[in-house]
Amino acid sequence: MKTIAVLTSGGDAPGMNAAVRAVVRTACENGIRVLGVVRGYNGLINGDFVEMDLRSVSDIINRGGTILYSARSTEFATEEGMRKAIRTCREYGIEGVVVIGGDGSFRGARDLSERGIPCVGIPGTIDNDIACCDYTIGYDTCLNTIMEMVDRIRDTSESHDRCSVIEVMGRHAGYLALNSGIACGATAILIPEVDFDIEKHVIERMKKTQRTDKKHFIIVVAEGVGVDVKKLAEEIQAKTGVESRATVLGHTQRGGYPTAKDRIMATRMGNYAVKLLMKDIGNRVVAAQKEEVLDFDIFEALNMKKSIDMELYNVAHEVSI
Ligand code: ATP
Repeated sequence: MKTIAVLTSGGDAPGMNAAVRAVVRTACENGIRVLGVVRGYNGLINGDFVEMDLRSVSDIINRGGTILYSARSTEFATEEGMRKAIRTCREYGIEGVVVIGGDGSFRGARDLSERGIPCVGIPGTIDNDIACCDYTIGYDTCLNTIMEMVDRIRDTSESHDRCSVIEVMGRHAGYLALNSGIACGATAILIPEVDFDIEKHVIERMKKTQRTDKKHFIIVVAEGVGVDVKKLAEEIQAKTGVESRATVLGHTQRGGYPTAKDRIMATRMGNYAVKLLMKDIGNRVVAAQKEEVLDFDIFEALNMKKSIDMELYNVAHEVSI
């Protein structure tokens, strides 16, 4: 393989830059030219490329976001857009593409691979919702960011005997909510994977702990459960008498310096992805399971199902009273 491209797609995640750096450095070290694609699949359609070399990825390992920018490309998801992207790849002599993103981005990578452009996906998403992986790039940083922010909210919540209802990211997956809820000692955690009843899972639990003299509370709600946290705070206040405030952490969760884990795993995955392409192996997703880096067929990976760890959920439930 003489020329490859690397792109970041979907929501940005801290550690994507470390992955880009590893891809570029591994390729350069092995005599492969690398084109950085600007703004995900849109850049692939329009030929928006930057020539990457060893020094073009200096001083990015510690930075959140993505120096290649990211996008959600509606055009690429159409047959015409896909054809344009393939034409551009052929025109620039691109023989393989490393796609750093979530499962939507992998669907694009699968389609490109099927049409003769070998792609390797690297899981970069804060949600940790890729079924073949127990870890995705950005998740660890995001989890730690949430923990730090909830700790800050706890200080004021405790000082005023309040209940803080906190919405964290996770459109379809409750990993961030469950694990941050455990790490922050939440009284209740609402996630999309587990049915809940506000009365039973929030109000009654709070009342039970009130009887043991608990006066301040943290309730963590995953964005994906579709609960309006402001309304929930009002309901809690009306039913328990505890002054309640809602906080939506929003995009503050996405940015920031990647943790050591995200930098190390992103580096290993970026290196692994290029090694696959060097062996002319495409249509693969690089995955992480129990700290080991491995790979799966993209089609198989997309058909896998990931479920929440109910044991962990039950632990959270049992110790949060
Ligand atoms: P995140 O987990 O952060 O949302 P993601 O990769 O899942 O990341 P999406 O917006 O779902 O984010 O997908 C990113 C891009 O991948 C889309 O904008 C689109 O260009 C491409 N894509 C998504 N689904 C498909 C599909 N079924 N076929 C082809 N391309 C797709």
